[in-house]
Amino acid sequence: MEILKTVGLKKYYGSGTSLVKALDGVDLSIEEGEFAAVVGSSGSGKSTLLHMLGGLDDPTEGKVIVDGKDISALKDTELTIFRRRNIGFIFQNYNLVPVLNVYENVVLPLELDGEKPDQKFVREVMEILGVYERRASMPNQLSGGQQQRVAIARALASKPAIVLADEPTGNLDSRNSKEVVGLLKVTGEQFGQTIVMITHNEALAQLCSRVIRIEDGRIWKDKTNAEKSVRRMAAGTLAPTGILPEMQPGRQGRGQE
Ligand code: ADP
Repeated sequence: MEILKTVGLKKYYGSGTSLVKALDGVDLSIEEGEFAAVVGSSGSGKSTLLHMLGGLDDPTEGKVIVDGKDISALKDTELTIFRRRNIGFIFQNYNLVPVLNVYENVVLPLELDGEKPDQKFVREVMEILGVYERRASMPNQLSGGQQQRVAIARALASKPAIVLADEPTGNLDSRNSKEVVGLLKVTGEQFGQTIVMITHNEALAQLCSRVIRIEDGRIWKDKTNAEKSVRRMAAGTLAPTGILPEMQPGRQGRGQE
């Protein structure tokens, strides 16, 4: 089922001689459960696209349709609620709150929303990501890789259908980068999520089920990699050691809430 769609999406900044066509007519369709990498040179429009997909910014022209809903037509408050319920964001800078411990950081967005965290689910997510044992630690006691895992747990705690990640491994070394992408893949499959991830790293992009290449605000190449990725997954090169065996079938997505 198609979960994310853009139709003739354009985003222009400035005007006259300083006009920048950050996105210049993007038609994209992403199926539920895909793990898509968005690659392209710096300034090609990747972040702009991700922001549009997440309703963080308004398009100049065109539509963004999330789970059948035209989010460009939503009013601000409706959009905020829709985003909160459906989309999890992960950024390059983990953006953890330094005075809160790991667990408090993970459940913070839920609590700000006045929601009671599903403790069993939060624990499961944190265990998969290997941060549950560090739940009482403060962010500055963790490595970069661990902090990013906490940020991922925070994004997943609200059970979003879609996860949008903007260079989530940008501050990590190659081993941690691979682990974080492996974990995203595992949690995506476990919780039935669709993931769109911007990366500069071609090797990481190749671990995804699809690679969307953007240049000058347009889709330049779009390649589905499913078989390859599944094979790598089976060979255990995608998921960090010790994670895969626990990931037995039994998706726990939105449908089973
Ligand atoms: P990428 O993520 O691929 O590096 P971006 O989406 O950040 O690219 O940017 C695409 C183009 O849009 C670039 O030329 C950038 O300078 C421009 N741009 C992005 N955001 C803004 C903004 N808020 N105001 C003006 N220009 C912007």
